[in-house]
Amino acid sequence: MSQFIFTPPVQASLPIAGTGQRFPVRRIYCVGRNYADHALEMGSDPREEPPFFFTKPADAVVCDGKPARYPPRTSNLHHEIELVVAIGKAGADIAVADAWEHVFGFAVGLDLTRRDLQNAAKKTGRPWDTGKAFDESAPVSEVHPLAATGAIESGRIWLNVNGELRQQGDISDLIWSIPEVIAELSSLFVLKEGDLIFTGTPAGVAAISKGDVLEGGVDGVGTLRTEIA
Ligand code: MN
Repeated sequence: MSQFIFTPPVQASLPIAGTGQRFPVRRIYCVGRNYADHALEMGSDPREEPPFFFTKPADAVVCDGKPARYPPRTSNLHHEIELVVAIGKAGADIAVADAWEHVFGFAVGLDLTRRDLQNAAKKTGRPWDTGKAFDESAPVSEVHPLAATGAIESGRIWLNVNGELRQQGDISDLIWSIPEVIAELSSLFVLKEGDLIFTGTPAGVAAISKGDVLEGGVDGVGTLRTEIA
């Protein structure tokens, strides 16, 4: 008999492309304002305010092809298409030059955001959790191993909503590169195997509705599809 008083939660995980294996998700870290054009559209000057971090729970993950439920208590749900880094080797105070050694692979993710609740939290200086860390707020594609993709330092990132282009940018436009994000994040938290890092979104964020079909991708990584249910 287990010592647990009820069945422990199922481990959140993502399929690994081209294998029958899965990537267990430990934590989800997200970078805010990592593309200058998106920082500007959100009303901040990227040179004055460097990128910062927030989190989502691991069980917010929605696998590729599965629907994401429109969350309650919002009337302004936004899409943010992002390159996701999957950590495969633990570390703290990781040097920029060593950062790629800690990367298992890449995925394409959507940082779904209750923009109305996030904006209210910003105004009052309250935490962002209700705006960012809600149930099913993190659709993520299969994980594509670094061994197959190589280090992703450039490449088009895009999102279509109902077949129409909504967001487009290039990974080379990240204010903080992936090694710089890993170095900075690992100075704040011990990174562990299974951590995901959402690296920020380019301009073009906008509201979505029930029934919308979101298809996005990063060239050289893969694609992600979800419907808002
Ligand atoms: Mn984001």
